[in-house]
Amino acid sequence: MSTDLTLSRTERTRLHRLRERGRSDRAELHAVLDAGLICHLGVLVDGSPVVLPTGYGRAGDLLYLHGSTANRSLLAADGQDACVTVTHLDGMVCARAIFHHSMNYRSAVVFGRPRLITDGPGKLAGLQAVTEQLIPGRWAQARPPTRKELAATRLLALSLDEASVKIRTGPPDDGDSPDAALGRWAGELPLTAAWGQAVPDPALPPGIAVPPHILARVGTAAFPLRPGAEGAAGG
Ligand SMILES: Cc1cc2nc3c(=O)[nH]c(=O)nc-3n(C[C@H](O)[C@H](O)[C@H](O)COP(=O)(O)OP(=O)(O)OC[C@H]3O[C@@H](n4cnc5c(N)ncnc54)[C@H](O)[C@@H]3O)c2cc1C
Repeated sequence: MSTDLTLSRTERTRLHRLRERGRSDRAELHAVLDAGLICHLGVLVDGSPVVLPTGYGRAGDLLYLHGSTANRSLLAADGQDACVTVTHLDGMVCARAIFHHSMNYRSAVVFGRPRLITDGPGKLAGLQAVTEQLIPGRWAQARPPTRKELAATRLLALSLDEASVKIRTGPPDDGDSPDAALGRWAGELPLTAAWGQAVPDPALPPGIAVPPHILARVGTAAFPLRPGAEGAAGG
């Protein structure tokens, strides 16, 4: 496991286009991953590429992916080359020219060979990481998995050793071009997603209040920006 504070550049993670948007700080990778809820897992299944959305959790420099033991892509990913992406769309960038329109975003790409976790404590730790990533505070509130439930769950761990981060923020990049004289509107249209009000299960008996870890999330940003995080503007 890497403890390097800098992301290492490999043939696969070296950005070819708009390199100024790349980030080399491992903390930036963690920030993008920690702000996310789902990733896309790309893997070859029976020789054909498949990219599927799935939940995940980060603990240190490991990314945990979980699902049913019948999940075909998790089965295929065990010990095989895989690619995981996490994307946050932060807004639309409207330029004067169609060509220069863009999006503000934070995204991470991770390459590696996920490893199947089979030991009980390791499996519980990984499932806790996934649960806490999706709903912080939930692990302590919900009933823990039984042995049978654990046996029906496949858990993979992917090292964050080989990863890249790309971030764009800011206005369109044609503000100082001849098109600026056209008098057409240009600017950013930010996108923010927030958690809604909790809806109690109608099957709940009376007297069970919404727990604090759920209440604390209501109205907060779903894909929070790290305070002070800035990215590279450009087309
Ligand atoms: C929300 C969003 C929307 C986008 N829309 C478009 C679009 O419409 N058209 C378009 O051309 N591009 C778009 N991009 C950028 C796109 O992801 C690629 O970065 C870009 O197209 C360059 O592709 P390439 O194959 O030349 O990558 P290369 O630069 O050759 O990629 C080399 C390596 O760089 C890293 N890398 C590349 N892109 C990313 C990334 N986004 N995040 C993290 N690491 C990365 C990977 O490790 C990859 O293997 C978008 C990105 C995001 C996040």
